[in-house]
Amino acid sequence: MISFEKAYETVIASAFRTGSEIVSFAETLGRILAQEVISDMDMPPFDKSTVDGFACKRADLDIELSVIETIAAGRNPLKTVHQGECSKIMTGAPLPDGADCVVMVEETETHPSGKIRFTGTYSKKNISLRGEDIKSGDVVLKPGKYVTPQDIALMASVGCTNVQVSILPVIGVISSGDELVEPDESPGLSRIRNSNAYQLMAQAKRAGCSGKYYGIARDDEQLTFEMVKKGVEECDILLLTGGVSMGDFDFIPSVLERAGIKLLFTRVNVQPGKPTTFGIHPDCLVFGLPGNPVSSFIQFEMLVRPLIYYMMGNEWKPFTCELPMQATYSRRSTDRLGLVPVLITDQRQVLPVEYHGSAHISSISVAQGIIAIPPGRNTIEKGEIVSVRQI
Ligand code: AMP
Ligand code: MG
Repeated sequence: MISFEKAYETVIASAFRTGSEIVSFAETLGRILAQEVISDMDMPPFDKSTVDGFACKRADLDIELSVIETIAAGRNPLKTVHQGECSKIMTGAPLPDGADCVVMVEETETHPSGKIRFTGTYSKKNISLRGEDIKSGDVVLKPGKYVTPQDIALMASVGCTNVQVSILPVIGVISSGDELVEPDESPGLSRIRNSNAYQLMAQAKRAGCSGKYYGIARDDEQLTFEMVKKGVEECDILLLTGGVSMGDFDFIPSVLERAGIKLLFTRVNVQPGKPTTFGIHPDCLVFGLPGNPVSSFIQFEMLVRPLIYYMMGNEWKPFTCELPMQATYSRRSTDRLGLVPVLITDQRQVLPVEYHGSAHISSISVAQGIIAIPPGRNTIEKGEIVSVRQI
């Protein structure tokens, strides 16, 4: 049995990079950039007004000014502003020559003569200078960046319309177990519905990937072997759930070895998720996740999700926040790293969710995060600050 940290290191060290592909920038939300994005222009591209108002000379703020033209956004100024003059200007329009500030329309009054006068006490310049945000040739986004809506705006502004992003790993999911029926079937007395496959497919989707579901492998070695072979050929990451414990029909590890997968670990010192198994094939990384839905969910979050991003060149870090415990939490056995699903109360305190065991799906449905309790510790005191990892 290895520590969770060692398991994580092993998984990340086994990662191979997916290739890259060129897609339209507008389609890159949630993808990982595989190139630098370089600006082809200064931004703003010209000195521009940040308000609707009058462009004039600062030295003229206490005299009446005649308005010599109106400059709309998208139009070039035609006249130079001289002493005693101003140009009416709209937000985003280029500043005319001769002007060194813009007074806001709200801070002026217009006289019957048509002249305007500044009525405020102090005016900011209200100008953004050419190149003050970005210079032509600047690297505005780096390879490995997770693309957000803001990044799409940035690509649009610098004219990067076709962009190289990492190819999403193909993720295969196989459920195993004779007790499983699909969700639209009625399980009868001794069976249960297959929830893990759909949970894992959704977790893969949340990481941007489309999962490939292979169905339920019955507890039959040969059939399971054939499914695994196919999955390994077609996928970058293959996820199996169930069949990795110590039961008579838990033969996933031996099937994986028969399919040419080198097992790197088969037990992790973590609770829940001890039977988590991981192996490598020349072009597929394979996880045997525990059958218990909570364990399978948590181990995907802890091991598979970082791997997916890493394979695309992104060192993903979960979002965490530090908050106090609402009540004392205790556990009986302390030999493993404990991963406890928690929610954050309206008082901004951490509350472990009511949790009867690793099959308790409704508990993780209300959980918002996970806290870790290190091996050797059995209690986290009320008020103690813990780090909550968002799930
Ligand atoms: P196993 O790892 O095969 O020993 O399974 C551990 C527990 O998880 C058993 O109670 C199984 O019935 C349950 N289980 C296994 N696979 C699934 C699945 N796909 N969906 C929901 N529960 C499962
Ligand atoms: Mg089983």
